[in-house]
Amino acid sequence: MNLVIVGGVAAGASAATRARRLSEDAHIVVFERGPYVSFANCGLPYHIGGMVERRESLLVARPESLEGRFRLDLRLRSEVTAIDRTRGEVEARAIESGRTYREPYDRLILAPGASPIIPPVPGTDGRRVHTLWTIPDMDAINLAIQEGAESAVIAGGGFVGVEAAEGLRARGLRVTLVEKAPKVLPPLDPEMAETVHDLLRKNGVDLILGRGLVAIRDDGDRKRVAIEGGDEILADLVILAAGVRPRAELARGAGLAIGDLGGIRVDDRLRTSDPKIFAAGDAIEVTDIVTGRPTLCPLAGPANRQGRIAADNALGRDVRYRGSQGTFIIKVFEGTAAATGANEVRLRAARIRYEKVHIVGQSHATYYPGAEPMFVKLLFAPEGGRILGAQIVGGPGVDKRIDVLATAIRANQTVFDLEDAELAYAPPYGSAKDPVNIAGFVAGNLLRGDVEAVAPEDVPLDAHILDVRTAKERQSCHIPGSQGIPLDELRDRIAEIPRDRVTYAHCAGGQRSYYACRILAGNGIECRNISGGLRHWRVSPGVRGRLRI
Ligand code: FAD
Repeated sequence: MNLVIVGGVAAGASAATRARRLSEDAHIVVFERGPYVSFANCGLPYHIGGMVERRESLLVARPESLEGRFRLDLRLRSEVTAIDRTRGEVEARAIESGRTYREPYDRLILAPGASPIIPPVPGTDGRRVHTLWTIPDMDAINLAIQEGAESAVIAGGGFVGVEAAEGLRARGLRVTLVEKAPKVLPPLDPEMAETVHDLLRKNGVDLILGRGLVAIRDDGDRKRVAIEGGDEILADLVILAAGVRPRAELARGAGLAIGDLGGIRVDDRLRTSDPKIFAAGDAIEVTDIVTGRPTLCPLAGPANRQGRIAADNALGRDVRYRGSQGTFIIKVFEGTAAATGANEVRLRAARIRYEKVHIVGQSHATYYPGAEPMFVKLLFAPEGGRILGAQIVGGPGVDKRIDVLATAIRANQTVFDLEDAELAYAPPYGSAKDPVNIAGFVAGNLLRGDVEAVAPEDVPLDAHILDVRTAKERQSCHIPGSQGIPLDELRDRIAEIPRDRVTYAHCAGGQRSYYACRILAGNGIECRNISGGLRHWRVSPGVRGRLRI
């Protein structure tokens, strides 16, 4: 069996090594256009920032070890330029010598990845304008810093842009991050992204939102970056981080089916429209397991798993890829942001009805030193409570909660299953009621009709707002016009609550106001709990101004 693989990094290297584990006889040829196989692209921003000191650490598997241990026929700096499906051959070009030749295949796996989107503005091809997608990209950025670059403009606030901002700040550069959308990190909904904006600003990143790049011009040795609205930023270095698009040209040229989103179309065995050709990684369209719609999911975990499955199927096994859910996590200076499943934008686009709750949890028991809050958003089906998506921003412990929720989504669980989840607990690690349980309780209460929750942006302007925090908490900030009655005084002062209108109760995070709603409901007063409390109010675009500090 001649197995040819195009692309030798995440999906391609996984496919190649898996194929060897399945077959000692196969002749496995891996074509890689770049100079490295199996390198850690995810580590690039951390080497720039100095967190990963040694450049060599990013070279996960050396060519010698892949050739020796797995007997792979590696063709580095070699590009596949065409596929001849009739003859079962690929056309290849050795980049340095320019030599072209043909390589036969019985099965072909396409793992060419994605390419960074270059904004369609003048000057993106100039000196000291870089993408951050490969080791040579990273080397060029590091060289610019060694040569004295002191300031940078990053165009794009996806995860590469945000990680690059942190890396460059760690090296002492002045950093401006320009994002065309009104917020960074597309998987996060606006109120969750707001915390990331705060973290970036607090750490010295000059954040410009809602304005795109217009042009990049030379100004002596420096760059003059023009942005929408007429402003110009002078910088020594520009990083383009405006997202990626699937590399589907090779497949398109060979007449393989391409999906509506521009990725290679595959079935659930990762087979393209040609049964002898499989595809995996950033280049393909997959099914979103929450919405059931085609999606692009350019992440390393899916790419590695898909590479393995493509090899299984190419070598005759029958293994299904069950779709992606876009689980992601990012370190943002001292904070962490993470998401899994669908966000509100995706649910609305797919016309899926949903409910949402926001809770504030703690990384571990508050009496044990070092506990930090985390802000959890849960999206779920109004009927039955199936979990549709989750987002968390905070610090320590965000990673394990998002993974529990990702697993719950994968297992098709409901918010009632989260109430039941039995998670590891000791004071240094968690709480007897984990944030995951609490999110389940709050969502379950809502679905059982124990309390009606409302997002800050849905609170009417003339609403009667009841603040049940302590007088001391209220002194530091409050919503103008709100009535303050601490929870512990509520029963004694119930006569002060108007009965002719709905009361919207809030506290700091939503828990005490839930208790207040139960007290009010028990006394015949209609009450809604402001989801996520003041913590959510403070970061909700549109209402954050309605706060007196
Ligand atoms: P790639 O790993 O990009 O490999 C494709 C390879 O194919 C390339 O090396 C390319 O040179 C080669 N190729 C393309 N066309 C041809 C051709 N015609 N002939 C020969 N070779 C060809 N994901 C996460 O999940 N978490 C993270 O924290 C994270 N951080 C990231 C940070 C950065 C800076 C970057 C760049 C990516 C990050 N990612 C992260 C994304 C992750 O790296 C990708 O999703 C993953 O590498 C995709 O794997 P792939 O095999 O499809 O593509």
